[in-house]
Amino acid sequence: MIPVSKLLDLNGKTAIVTGGALGIGHGVTYRLAEAGANVVIANRTYDEAVKVVTEFCANGWHVKAVKTDVSVEGDVQNMVTETVKEFGSIDILVNNAGIYPSLPVHLMTLADFDRVLSVNLKGVFLTVKYVSEQMIKQNKGGKIINITSIDALHPSSVGLAHYDASKHGVWGFTKNIALELAPHKIWVNAVAPGGILTDGTKKLQSAAPMPQGVDMQKMMESFLGKIPMHRMGEPDDIGKAVLFLASEMSSYMTGSQIVVDGGVLLS
Ligand code: NAP
Repeated sequence: MIPVSKLLDLNGKTAIVTGGALGIGHGVTYRLAEAGANVVIANRTYDEAVKVVTEFCANGWHVKAVKTDVSVEGDVQNMVTETVKEFGSIDILVNNAGIYPSLPVHLMTLADFDRVLSVNLKGVFLTVKYVSEQMIKQNKGGKIINITSIDALHPSSVGLAHYDASKHGVWGFTKNIALELAPHKIWVNAVAPGGILTDGTKKLQSAAPMPQGVDMQKMMESFLGKIPMHRMGEPDDIGKAVLFLASEMSSYMTGSQIVVDGGVLLS
């Protein structure tokens, strides 16, 4: 039996965290690197990722940035090549990159819809395709963790129909590939956050065009009122759940989704 002191030890493992520079991704990168993993931050904005690399390498952790737009196939192939070149293998993939621009459906263009689906759903397909190919070649199993949302399980707020569609899609995709990849000992799970305070959610609160009669401030107050834990989540609340799924702590889990929402779905 693995001793309890070793259950969260990720020394010798290599992880990729998409969108790992900011918000939830930053919290995930922190915990995986602290647990000893080599971590590649695959972020669209390279400067942000480089800042985090500098910050975390100062702790003696092994972190590298690879400029990646997860919706671009060539970028994802390059992300895999660069990770293997730097660290030799890939053991953990965390699909965190995601966008949630708010737009009422009658104002949403086809391009708006496509953009959200491209990053949130097609991006997950592309990373899983190329990372699982590499993991199968390595023949030593692996862990894939998709950041979904409670909006994969219930309808969220006005303006996020495309987002909800993408997250329901990621959860369906997660269950299917958990079955497909199980013979290769690649375990696939999801984490569904509730409301987490990040740069993205702050932007959403300040910039969203809302339909007539819908007040963003009131919608936020009503959302906060529904959280049994009476607080928004922090990136580290998700970082810890991802660490659990990336580690030996979750040795008998695949095809599951952990809800981390302060109890919102109960209310
Ligand atoms: P965030 O603060 O906006 O950070 C997202 C990160 O992903 C940024 O570093 C961003 O980089 C990167 N990114 C965006 N598009 C990308 C792309 N195409 N390729 C690579 N990187 C990209 O977002 P967050 O709130 O932390 O959310 C992270 C994930 O959690 C998303 O999947 C989101 O749907 C999910 N989630 C969040 C909440 C919440 O309340 N925050 C709740 C449920 C689920 P740039 O700066 O370059 O755009």
